[in-house]
Amino acid sequence: MNAKIADFAKFRGLSSAFVAPQRRACRPATMDVFTRPGAASMKVTLIQVTPFQQNCSLVVCEATQRAAIVDPGGDVDRIFSAVQQLGVTVEKVLLTHGHLDHCGGAKSIADHYGVKIEGPHAADAFWIDQLPEQSKRFGFGEAEAFTPDRWLQDGDSVQFGDETMDVYHCPGHTPGHVIFFSRANRLALVGDVLFAGSIGRTDFPRGNHADLVRSVKEKLWPLGDDVTFVPGHGPTSTFGHERGTNPHVRDVVAA
Ligand SMILES: [Zn+2]
Ligand SMILES: [Zn+2]
Repeated sequence: MNAKIADFAKFRGLSSAFVAPQRRACRPATMDVFTRPGAASMKVTLIQVTPFQQNCSLVVCEATQRAAIVDPGGDVDRIFSAVQQLGVTVEKVLLTHGHLDHCGGAKSIADHYGVKIEGPHAADAFWIDQLPEQSKRFGFGEAEAFTPDRWLQDGDSVQFGDETMDVYHCPGHTPGHVIFFSRANRLALVGDVLFAGSIGRTDFPRGNHADLVRSVKEKLWPLGDDVTFVPGHGPTSTFGHERGTNPHVRDVVAA
């Protein structure tokens, strides 16, 4: 088992449902899974996709076995095979932001399952428009541009199965970045806003460091220290842990 994930499972007091990363050879998809005992009604399977090792999340409503695919950046065959392994019904594609490694596979996935694409915020349209050329530049293969069926805004919510996730607009890494928060499950999918020990880059066009820090402190932290988050890259963590230790956004203790 991945040591960091194992420690983290212990840290969180989660029962056991973290599953070790499976390397490409045999089972291409399932990277780690967790459920929260008690209130748990949602299960998340992480699928690492693209050369940037982006965490695509397959989020399943356990009651209905209906699922949303969050940030399918590419490697769509691995996503298809994870869906098949779990035997769930895909209901929609959700996007945190317009970067290639997060939405390069969105159109093919949505077309394959005949489902809609929701997100990100419309301020990321300029990134989505660039998908085909970005994809060529980074050697990702085909990535089609598209227009999401629904642009999201702060205060919106998204549904799949019996589950609801709240939408928060968190600009900074990109101007149209949103995050998804399951209040019932105390789980946030934060894309490239926040990582374990780091934050998203802000040196892209229309990126803004002050906005990003403000997004973390004013949108994420109020959701609660106990919230587990899945970042766009790397291991999961909690908001409380990052508030205490993350050098970019930790709380400053007055002397
Ligand atoms: Zn990004
Ligand atoms: Zn990314």
